[in-house]
Amino acid sequence: MRKLIALSFIVALVIGCTTVPITGRKQLTGVVGSEEVIAMSADAYQQVIDSVQLSNNQEQVAMVKRVGTRIQKAVEQYMNNNGYEGLLDGFDWEFNLIESDQVNAWAMPGGKVAFYTGILPICKDDLGVAVVMGHEVAHAVAKHGQERMNQNYAKQVGLSIGAVALGQDPTLAQQMVFQAVGIGTDIGLLKFSRTHESEADELGLTFMAIAGYDPSEAPKFWERMSAGSSGQAPPEFLSTHPSHETRIERLNAALPKAMEYYNKSTLK
Ligand SMILES: [Zn+2]
Repeated sequence: MRKLIALSFIVALVIGCTTVPITGRKQLTGVVGSEEVIAMSADAYQQVIDSVQLSNNQEQVAMVKRVGTRIQKAVEQYMNNNGYEGLLDGFDWEFNLIESDQVNAWAMPGGKVAFYTGILPICKDDLGVAVVMGHEVAHAVAKHGQERMNQNYAKQVGLSIGAVALGQDPTLAQQMVFQAVGIGTDIGLLKFSRTHESEADELGLTFMAIAGYDPSEAPKFWERMSAGSSGQAPPEFLSTHPSHETRIERLNAALPKAMEYYNKSTLK
């Protein structure tokens, strides 16, 4: 039985690779499929939203939703124009603002985004929100959560624990979702890898530019983030990167290409 499971896993491994748009990186997404991950994420997201206090600041709530919708349109435009039509299947976008001092924001598979009010002073305005929104949406679009679930699954199988029957063990399935998207019971406990963070930066820069937000704001935003978080690293943003300088350098290197998208943007 185990051999059979291992064999089917290897088969899925071989056929289950997809390519990330823009960076072209190959990733493992085949065993735990997109549909399954998106469904689990929608449940997990609703659980989070039900258990937190959403912001009552109508202006700020509107800002997050406004920027989110424009980035969403940019993503849809890019995918439709570049042969990735199916990549957003099952996406059901949502942008919420949670009342919390934490300097954080995150996105779950399927386009479920949450901002914390604590990050808004660093964002300052729509443009700053667009930097973070682009980055978070990129994690969802590049299917980083799904990839991590598949990696976790691979580890479990590798450890001969056997088949993780996701449908049969809802608790385990739910834990895997939370782990995979980087929010544990302690939100922000688990972090995306450096590869995922750099990729989210690059895709995020492109998406914000297509949406008509000046991408040269991105390095400025990360400067503010670095200055504003001395001593205590925000969960999602600083700790997984090789260094702050490297991030800024990479963003600046990617800027000319992003400026081309910005100048051509029809969503301004
Ligand atoms: Zn990130």
